[in-house]
Amino acid sequence: MSDLLFRGVRVLDVATGESVTQDVAVSADRVVEASRVVDPQVLDLPGATLLFGLWDCHAHPGSLMHDPSARGYFEGAPAWAVRAGANLMDAARQGVTGVRAVSEADGVDVAWSRAFAAGEYAGPRLLAAGPGLRTTGGHGTAYPRKPVGVEWEWAVDGADAFLRATRALVERGVDWVKVMLTGGLYSEHESIDDPQLTEAELDAVLTVAHARGVPVAAHCGSARVAETFARRGGRSVEHGYALDERAAAVMAEHGTWLVPTMAVTQDDALMDDDGWPEHAKRRARETAATHAEALMACVAAGVPIAAGADINPIGRRLHDELHFMEVAGMSRLAVLHAATVGGRRLAGLDDRTRPEPGAVADLLVVAGDPREDLAALREPLAVTTYGRLVVSPA
Ligand SMILES: [Zn+2]
Repeated sequence: MSDLLFRGVRVLDVATGESVTQDVAVSADRVVEASRVVDPQVLDLPGATLLFGLWDCHAHPGSLMHDPSARGYFEGAPAWAVRAGANLMDAARQGVTGVRAVSEADGVDVAWSRAFAAGEYAGPRLLAAGPGLRTTGGHGTAYPRKPVGVEWEWAVDGADAFLRATRALVERGVDWVKVMLTGGLYSEHESIDDPQLTEAELDAVLTVAHARGVPVAAHCGSARVAETFARRGGRSVEHGYALDERAAAVMAEHGTWLVPTMAVTQDDALMDDDGWPEHAKRRARETAATHAEALMACVAAGVPIAAGADINPIGRRLHDELHFMEVAGMSRLAVLHAATVGGRRLAGLDDRTRPEPGAVADLLVVAGDPREDLAALREPLAVTTYGRLVVSPA
């Protein structure tokens, strides 16, 4: 793996919004001082913007949402695994240098994560949660596209069973545990905020995961359930459809993250295209304004925020999600921060806000200036993950 030297790029700090034109050097998986690289591959990109790569912190790489062709109905596990990998590698080519999978077919995310880290394939840094945990009849049950022989959620009931399931996930090598704490948009007989685990069941998940050093992400639409989850050390609330000021204050106090996945309530075209049932479309429409208010309550309270698309294909849909976050009221710079530094911090990479020596070299170079228009992020000139080029300038 050769050293890299990006020459004359405009390096963007997504905390301040300021940029400095300079050379950026990469050796092994880190940004280093330009004087440190030896016989580097030189990339002349004068005037291009270099920033940290994007993160999709709420992904289901093999999921069948969205899948208008219905091809996935007829897949077994091997075809699912191949399609998930292709989706992830394509995402990296579109500037998504980090992905957190939060419910994925057993073993698929862990296997791809290791393959990408080892450099066997050019893909994103991938955090794996394995199959999500839900109760019988809990969120996800009603999703109609059930491929043959693939389980991307486990139905679990009772505190002892949640202990066993969480231990089984840790044993498989997951980086996160995902639990479906409340209802959501899709099932007819749930609401966005009905609690679906007992306190004992949630305690079981958190106790095992925390003892083993694994953070917990929760599908959670309810403000009161999010408060409980935050107080008990839960790390990230997914969706947060009905969060209010009180919940936001508790999450901020405990450093609990929000990954808002705005598109699932804001993108009407997706719902039609993907054939959502009428009750799900109606619930999404009824939730859309509340969901945007919940996001802005969290922004105001200082809740740390990361971006997540929830929908495939990851590459294109993450870019769409950034648009929906901006439309919901976030400043463009706050969206850029959530999409890059947010993901890095949630993943525990580092706290830096610009690519500087010592930073993990997951980088994105674009021709335009994303401070003027987030669409500039959609056409990368160069992308690195683990310090390796995934996209090279033509
Ligand atoms: Zn999801």
